[in-house]
Amino acid sequence: MRFWIGNGINKNKQMVEHLQRYGVISSMKVAEVMETIDRALFVPDGASAYVDSPMAIGYNATISAPHMHATCLQLLEQNLQPGMHALDVGSGTGYLTACFAIMVGPQGRAVGVEHIPELVASSIKNIEKSAAAPLLKEGSLSVHAGDGRQGWPECAPYDAIHVGAAAPEIPQALLDQLKPGGRMVIPVGNMFQDLKVVDKNMDGSISIRSETSVRYVPLTSRDAQLRGY
Ligand code: SAH
Repeated sequence: MRFWIGNGINKNKQMVEHLQRYGVISSMKVAEVMETIDRALFVPDGASAYVDSPMAIGYNATISAPHMHATCLQLLEQNLQPGMHALDVGSGTGYLTACFAIMVGPQGRAVGVEHIPELVASSIKNIEKSAAAPLLKEGSLSVHAGDGRQGWPECAPYDAIHVGAAAPEIPQALLDQLKPGGRMVIPVGNMFQDLKVVDKNMDGSISIRSETSVRYVPLTSRDAQLRGY
């Protein structure tokens, strides 16, 4: 799915307006946060930052396309209210972690977990240039090197969990770290993947639905990823 080609569309605000016009963004809060966090700060080649396409970021990883970031923010909006806890597994460039941090605010907690230490370091540099920098400094936003399949128990339970890489099945640790009333958005599958919306009900039971078919890099071990899967 591509909503536009980049020619002449080189501004973050215009990118957000396109996503609104095409119905990908319906929430004002999502539009606001995507305007606040300039995507160009997170993309290696700033020139094509606003094209609706994923881009390679090294280490066999990609930054997701703007319409995927927008879709995930929309699906998680109710679980990213001020004061809530959010976990971003496979945080990559840090773009969505920064968006989560802005939405949950200084009283909330936004945690990124990424297994390539070099990406953790560059994501922190990206965030330091962005509107989320004060939150990183104050500590409501943090990014950690680790295997995201284990989640990040220190800040659990989470109101929102986003997984930015496709899992063969939903990791149990992530289900365990989801708060009752919490929501996880996770691509599941191998060649063919569905973006699953996983809700933990107040009684602890789990409801799962498929939102759309997607193509993400695998949620795997660091070795397998660096070998090229
Ligand atoms: N949302 C990120 C997506 C990056 S691509 C962005 O838009 O920038 C998926 C990321 O998941 C990659 O950075 C990859 O290194 C990471 N990843 C894959 N398996 C992982 C694992 N087991 N633990 C932590 N991170 C993982």
